[in-house]
Amino acid sequence: MHATLPRLQDTRFPALRRRRLETLQVNLGYRCNQSCLHCHVNAGPNRTEQMDGDTVEAVLAFLRRAGAATTLDLTGGAPELNPHFRRLTAEARALGLHVIDRCNLTILEEPGQEDLAEFLAAQRVEVVASLPCYLEENVDRQRGEGVFGKSLRALQKLNALGYGREGSGLMLSLVYNPQGPVLPPPQAQLEADYRRHLAERYGIAFTRLLTLTNMPIQRFGSMLISQGRFNDYMALLHAAHRDENLEHVMCRSLLSIDWQGYAYDCDFNQMLELPLGGRRTHISALAADGLAGQAIAVADHCYGCTAGQGSSCGGALA
Ligand code: SF4
Ligand code: SF4
Repeated sequence: MHATLPRLQDTRFPALRRRRLETLQVNLGYRCNQSCLHCHVNAGPNRTEQMDGDTVEAVLAFLRRAGAATTLDLTGGAPELNPHFRRLTAEARALGLHVIDRCNLTILEEPGQEDLAEFLAAQRVEVVASLPCYLEENVDRQRGEGVFGKSLRALQKLNALGYGREGSGLMLSLVYNPQGPVLPPPQAQLEADYRRHLAERYGIAFTRLLTLTNMPIQRFGSMLISQGRFNDYMALLHAAHRDENLEHVMCRSLLSIDWQGYAYDCDFNQMLELPLGGRRTHISALAADGLAGQAIAVADHCYGCTAGQGSSCGGALA
């Protein structure tokens, strides 16, 4: 795989500073039952990196400290494959946190995960699920043969538990990212298309659609380099930069923790090994109330967050 950081370090991206922490995003490991082309963490079935029990305890200790985050955002790989996933979720909920599970949907059909949907509903976890298109051929091309069918079955199962249904309070957010090196279309318009198509064809309901810009790093960035399209994609991101998105980029209020417990401004920086504050810091040594005002480690990939309508783990910024 081609390294992307050397192409991103020379940047004119504006300096940014952190604000008060709201979301702790924790990567529970790189193991995944899928290996999607656009995956920015290179997750897959053969990856063995997993957050261990001691590090999970350090995450919980951080969350218990006054002034820590109000949302715990669990990601991977497939976070549910980490043996501590359910304990961490339940303890964070008991602390009163909003918990997000970044779920690839197909995990619901994996052996040992038969009761996962019921667990998530009982804990009132928000499910944020990738569905890069509402058309079968596009999803299967990007995420693998048969993924669309499995994803629909998972969405129907979640709907049956109340997810995505009005009044249930169980949030089901779908995530869209473009198939190639283009910016996502306007979020509201695409959400309306998804809503109509999924309801009419499959009877599926969801709470909201989040559009994400593909980041020019890891597997996607490497593919662009191989195809000789990296510079064109960066030029597209540069040209579409909007200063007003700088106010809302997620790194201002989010902290990303890797599977070993080390901290970054966001998970893209985690993948590029650009540590929080320029030095490797473990969550056990972090004070949440000391983060505000700290400089954020920016590089040229940051234009992926500010191009067009903007992009973050919570979808468009504009
Ligand atoms: S499902 Fe998500 S984590 Fe797994 S390979 Fe695909 S993009 Fe990566
Ligand atoms: S890539 Fe990360 S550090 Fe850069 S603007 Fe986006 S969220 Fe912030």
